[in-house]
Parts: sequence; C-alpha cells; structure tokens
Amino acid sequence: MTAKKNWKRFWKLGVEEFNTQFFDITRDGELTVREGNYIYNLNDLVKKYGSPLEVVFPFILEERLEDLQDYFRAYMKIQGYKGKFFYHYPMKVNQNKEFVMPLISEGAHMEVGSVNELWLVKKLWEGEKFHAKLRVLCNGPKTDAYLKLVDELRSKDLAIMPIIEDEHELDKLYKYKGDVGIRVNLDTKADTHWDKKIDRFGLTAKQILALPRMKNLKLLHYHIGSQIVTAGSVIKPVEEAMDLYIKLSKIQPGLDTLDIGGGFGVPYEKKPFYTAKEISERIVKLLKKMSDEAGIRHPNLVVEWGRYVVAPAQVTIYNVIAEKPIPKANAKSWYVIDGSFMNDLLDTWAIHQKWHVVPVNNANTRDLKSVWLAGSSCDSDDKYTAGGNYILLPKLREGEPQHFAVLDSGAYQDALASHHCLLSSPAKLIAQDGTIKIARKRESSEMVGKLFGWGNGEH
Ligand SMILES: *Cc1c(COP(=O)(O)O)cnc(C)c1O
Repeated sequence: MTAKKNWKRFWKLGVEEFNTQFFDITRDGELTVREGNYIYNLNDLVKKYGSPLEVVFPFILEERLEDLQDYFRAYMKIQGYKGKFFYHYPMKVNQNKEFVMPLISEGAHMEVGSVNELWLVKKLWEGEKFHAKLRVLCNGPKTDAYLKLVDELRSKDLAIMPIIEDEHELDKLYKYKGDVGIRVNLDTKADTHWDKKIDRFGLTAKQILALPRMKNLKLLHYHIGSQIVTAGSVIKPVEEAMDLYIKLSKIQPGLDTLDIGGGFGVPYEKKPFYTAKEISERIVKLLKKMSDEAGIRHPNLVVEWGRYVVAPAQVTIYNVIAEKPIPKANAKSWYVIDGSFMNDLLDTWAIHQKWHVVPVNNANTRDLKSVWLAGSSCDSDDKYTAGGNYILLPKLREGEPQHFAVLDSGAYQDALASHHCLLSSPAKLIAQDGTIKIARKRESSEMVGKLFGWGNGEH
C-alpha cells in the first residue's frame, strides 16, 4: 500500500494543484485515470487500440468548468457583487466536438475567432442544440464573410456580439444594429511565453475614450496573452482595464460588461502555481472595490480562460521503439518514439513547451534512465528534451513495450497538428461514463495520401 502511494507521489500524480488528482498507478505499475467509481487503465487502452494514442476525458472538462464557475459565483455572492458571471469558451483552444459539447453542457457560452468557428456555432444553433440564451462573442479579423455570418445569426435571434479590434472594424461596425464590444490594447504586458512588446490587436485607451457615444457599446475586452506565469500578471491587467471601464462608463451609458479574455496558465511543470480559486476571489474583490469607489454599477464579468479549462482533459501516449546512447549530454539515451512531437505536440517545437511525462507501464520500477525523446519524423527538430534537461523513464526491458503519457495535451495541439514526413495522426479515444468511443481512427497510408491530393484513380 505505501509503496503504491510513493510511486504516485514520485510521478507527481494525485495532486489537485497539478491537475493530476484523477491519475493513479496500479500495483502492477500501470497508469490509470479515475472518473468517479470508473477506472480507465491507460496501459490496457494502448494494448487494445495501439499507439500513438490520444485519450480525451470529457468529465475533466466538465469538472474544471463547473469548479471555475462555482468559484466566481460563490465569491460574488459572498461579497455582495451585483454583476453576473459568464464563461465564454474560446473555441480556438480546441474546436473538436468532444471538447465543445461537454463544455456547453456545463453552461459555457462561446468565443469564436474566425468565420469557420462561427459556422460551427451556426450548425449547432440551427440544429436547436443550444439554449436560447447562449451568448457568442466574435473576435479575430472581421472579413466580409465573417461579418455576413454575424449578421445572419443576429437576424436569427442568436445573442451574438462582434468585438471591434481596430479602427478599420470600427468603421465597418459603426452602423451595426446589434450590441458590440471593443478591445483595448493595454499598456500592461503580462509575463507569458509570448510577452509581445507590440500587440497588434485592440485600440488604445485614448482612442476608446475619444469615441462618440454609441448606444450599443456593451462590453470592454482585453486579451493579453496565454500561459501567464504569475498571479500578479493576471491581476494587474484587470486593474488597468477596470480603470478604463470606469472612465468609459461615464461616456458610454450602455456599457455593462468587462471581458478579461484568456491567459490563465496551467502547471505543466508540476511546480507550485497560482490557482483559480485564489485568483477568482482577488478579481471579484478588486472589481467590487473599484466600482464602489467610483460609484458605478458592478460590471458583468466575462472570462475566456481556455487553456486552463481544457489542457488537462487529454493525454497523448507513445511507445518507445528504439534506444540510442548519447555520449555527452544531460541525458544518457535517446528514446525514439512511434509518433512525432513536431506533428502532434507542435508547441514543443514552436514555443519550447514543457510537458509532464509519466510511464504508462512499469511505473513502479526503480530502474530508471534519464532520456531525451526523439520523434519519428525525419526532422532533427522533432524531439523533446525538457528544455535541455532530461526526462526520467523506465529502462527498456527486452521484448516488452514501454509506453509513456504526455499529460495536459488538450489545449491548442490538435488544430496546430500537421503531417510532416506524412506520419499518421494518433488515433483518438473518448473515455466517458466508463465506456470508450473512437473519435479518430488511426490514419492509413491511403487516408494520409488523400490529404495531399493522391486520391483514388489518380497518379
Ligand atoms: C486565444 C484566446 C483566448 C484563450 O486564451 P488561453 O490562453 O487559452 O486562455 C481567449 N480569448 C481570446 C480573445 C483569445 O484570442
């Protein structure tokens, strides 16, 4: 019993602050995920369905969103805050149906960034799959096709609000009949991986305060970056934006909502990190204090934390297919895997994303090796070294596969995925209510060929 517990701790599993509270290790050293009283054994799944394999856990999405809404609503109640709380799911973080539907079922409203994302909303709206009060915010560059669809959906009584991001859009949306929001480019810059010194989205506070009175201007929005590293960098922009909101509300009588965008981080590295519970309390307190001091109504609050909600709901599993010694480095060997970081966990390459890597089998062995992971595309950039450090995994055993899981792979990786060297995408499973569904079959050579114009009957 104690040995089992130690392995769990060793691999940093079962810890709520790290989003690993659902993970455990069996007596035989196999990785499991627990949904209530159901147990999914990931080693059994990979034996049955093969690797590489993605597994999505909708219950994790649902729990995270439910908790987040509960925190905000509870603190609003405790502090006598009069505004309402709305969670809008930023679709770009993961547009797959198996992600979007569970979030809607938990009460998520939507945030879209392109005409094609909005088209998915239209499909659901027309299928009468949505509650009539569902709200949609439209960010991203407003092409004519995008604006046309916004108009169409507004005429069909969807509560849809385009967000003006620059002066050009201001001209285009000036005569728009429905409600609009406006995006500010704040002076505060957050410490995120991106840390853009120059942001091309949004108008300056000065430009916004110089606007004439617009009866339909309802919402002030900012989005400052993704994977913000410190609590202070989440709070500081709220303060700057609220300061502007107060000034703006004196000019624009319709203004009633502050939208603080996305950016809330995930503890990928399983080190201490700020929490949604503490931050939601601080945000509600701050907004209440500032509005009370200024003598204005408490604004409704919109939060669009995407990565925070969805990253922990998917894992990606690979098998080690070969080992190659590394003569002089932090790691002793390359483990070559049967999939690709560059294709399927593209942020590893694009922004040097770090991941929590844990064995799927043999997780109870002391026989470990420090390794780097090499993807099986023919590209020398297709690798994961934990930032030049090393990854600990079990030593390979003769005639036995060694599987490992990359946790928190639910945010952004799917829409960025590619087919470098024409490798197949991982198969994808949905694990829900104790049953397994296949969301994406393993791609055959023929299916991949077709993506590149090598269809039937052509040469
Ligand atoms: C990308 C984006 C988000 C989500 O950001 P996260 O870092 O995933 O929370 C939210 N709002 C807007 C406008 C975005 O562009």
